[in-house]
Amino acid sequence: MDKLRVVISGVAGVGKSTVLDLVKKGTNYDIINFGTLMFEMAKDIGLVENRDGLRKLSVDTQINLQKKASAAIGKMDSVIIDTHMSIKSHGGYLPGLPEWVIRELKVGAYFVIEADPSLVLSRRATDSTRDRDAATENDIRMDQEINRYYAAAYSVFTGATVNIIENPEGKPNIAANTIISRLRTDD
Ligand code: AMP
Ligand code: MG
Repeated sequence: MDKLRVVISGVAGVGKSTVLDLVKKGTNYDIINFGTLMFEMAKDIGLVENRDGLRKLSVDTQINLQKKASAAIGKMDSVIIDTHMSIKSHGGYLPGLPEWVIRELKVGAYFVIEADPSLVLSRRATDSTRDRDAATENDIRMDQEINRYYAAAYSVFTGATVNIIENPEGKPNIAANTIISRLRTDD
């Protein structure tokens, strides 16, 4: 199994960026943010002004951007892809890794970072740099549950492993170290 590319995901506010900053220090993997690639492509053609505008685009437009971003990432080696199992869009949950994306990316392992919904909400409230949708603890519980279903579906399709990683409050190093040690065994 090709383990050169892995996906790390988690709902907005789960602390993914903090964990990834720590993972970056402990591995040789480059980290590539799928949303940043999509955003740069969308901004270039005047579709959006900020990254939170992406999920408000039509599903067809999001899929086109998704295809372009995955074609670019498909050419890279040893990367951690920072992305989402699903994106809550106006048309419903959009799969972050539909068949045409998975085929391009050749992912060896999926990591799903999770945290208690109350922690996710309080982290969202303190991040003023993003335009988050209003949500309740139940919404976040549901989104995290849905993301597990998507991870299982992608795993069945490719044979790649799924790792559910808890990100406890104030201890992102625990989540990061678990990820680093699993990346090593996959080398
Ligand atoms: P992030 O900063 O990681 O939340 O990513 C910003 C935005 O990029 C997300 O809210 C989505 O709209 C979009 N995005 C990221 N990954 C994907 C993906 N695999 N498929 C579709 N859209 C994505
Ligand atoms: Mg982030």
